[in-house]
Amino acid sequence: MRYEMMLPRQIRAAIAAKTPVVLPLGVLEYHGEHMAVGMDTLAVTRALDMLEQEAEIVILPPFYYGAASYAVEPPEGTGSVHVDSNVLHPFARELFTGLLRVGFRNIHAFIHHQSENFAVGMPTDLSFKFGARQAIFAFLEKTRGEGWWGDSKMADYYAQQSGGDDPFNWIKIHPLMTADTIAEYPFDHAGEGETSLMLAMCPEAVDMTSFSDERWYVKSAARASAETGARGRDLILAHMRKALGLASSA
Ligand SMILES: [Zn+2]
Repeated sequence: MRYEMMLPRQIRAAIAAKTPVVLPLGVLEYHGEHMAVGMDTLAVTRALDMLEQEAEIVILPPFYYGAASYAVEPPEGTGSVHVDSNVLHPFARELFTGLLRVGFRNIHAFIHHQSENFAVGMPTDLSFKFGARQAIFAFLEKTRGEGWWGDSKMADYYAQQSGGDDPFNWIKIHPLMTADTIAEYPFDHAGEGETSLMLAMCPEAVDMTSFSDERWYVKSAARASAETGARGRDLILAHMRKALGLASSA
C-alpha cells in the first residue's frame, strides 16, 4: 500500500494490525556516467515494490534528500544534491513524531547510501536514528508524562525489550545490505555490485553505452550483470523480510 493513496479506514486498519510502515531513505548522488543519480534510493524503492507483491506493508513516499556529501564528486554538472545533516535530524524528528501521532508503532526506514559500516553510522542514517530517538522520548513524555519509565508499570521493561516490544523499537533504521550480505555480495559505489543491482532491479537506470572508466570506483562496473544483481536482490529481500517480520515467500 502506498501511504499517499490510503483512506483513513485503511490507515486505522494498518495501525490495528501493526502493519510495517516503511520509509525508503536515500540520496541523489553521482554514480558514474553510466548510472542514474537516484541509485541508492531506487535500490530501496524497487526492493519494496517487490515485497509489496507478497506481503502487507505500507510504503511511505521516498525521501531522496539525504546527506549525499561531495566526497565522490563536486556537484557541478554531476547531479549530486547534498542536504546537510544539521537540517536532516530535525526533519526526521518531526516526520517520526507525525507518524507516531497518526498511531503507527511499527515504523522502519531502509538506507543503502554509505551503509558499509552501519554499526558506526554516517550522517544520513545517524540523523534519522537520532531524530527517531528524539521523537520517541518526546512522544512518551507527552503521552505518559515525565517519570513514565520509572513507574511500576514499567517493571518488565528489560523483558519487553528483549521481546522486541518496548517503545524504542517503534522506529528502526536498517541498512539495505547487512554485514552478512556484504560478505557475499560486492559492496561498492557505482561499481559491479551497484550496477548489477540496478540491471536486475531497475534496468532503466543504467546505460552502459555512456560508461567511462576514468574513476577508480566505477572500473569494476564493466563486469556488471543482471545475473549478479539478482543474487544481491535476493539477499536484500531475505534481509528485508526478516527485518520487517514478514514470512518468507520461499
Ligand atoms: Zn550508491
